[in-house]
Amino acid sequence: MMGIRIGHGYDVHRLVEERKLILAGVTIPYAKGLLGHSDADVLTHAVMDAILGALALGDIGKHFPDNDPAYAGADSLKLLGHCIHLMHKQGYQLGNLDVTVIAQAPKLKPYLPAMVDNLAQIFGAEPAQINIKATTEEKLGFTGNGQGIAAHCVCLLTATTKEQKNS
Ligand code: MG
Repeated sequence: MMGIRIGHGYDVHRLVEERKLILAGVTIPYAKGLLGHSDADVLTHAVMDAILGALALGDIGKHFPDNDPAYAGADSLKLLGHCIHLMHKQGYQLGNLDVTVIAQAPKLKPYLPAMVDNLAQIFGAEPAQINIKATTEEKLGFTGNGQGIAAHCVCLLTATTKEQKNS
């Protein structure tokens, strides 16, 4: 068992009308929202993929297939809770995670503290272990023209116990 493990996650969802915009479980007032099978919380999906990646457990598509009716409209924070359960089961806890959300609009800064609090709560971690940044791509590409929102996450996991398992 390794003492530390690093993971990376990346996700994109399309912005459309008549959908809620939910990022890290925070509903943000905006004319559009993200399209997807679940609640399309792109930020939380990047976090889940980072955790699963660190654990070498594949990706969220493997654990939560987007053709499975069980996940239609799913609360992504609940799905993240399942990934955290898998992390604990494998003997790891969150060291820290760092997220970058890329959106031309709306301005996300006012909502970042609530997003950090939501993630800290579900991880059972301190807010100081979680960083969420928002940026734009200067009106370039699909985030710049408002077609979609992207999110990147890197995380570091640390072994819960110091004993090294050989099996
Ligand atoms: Mg996704």
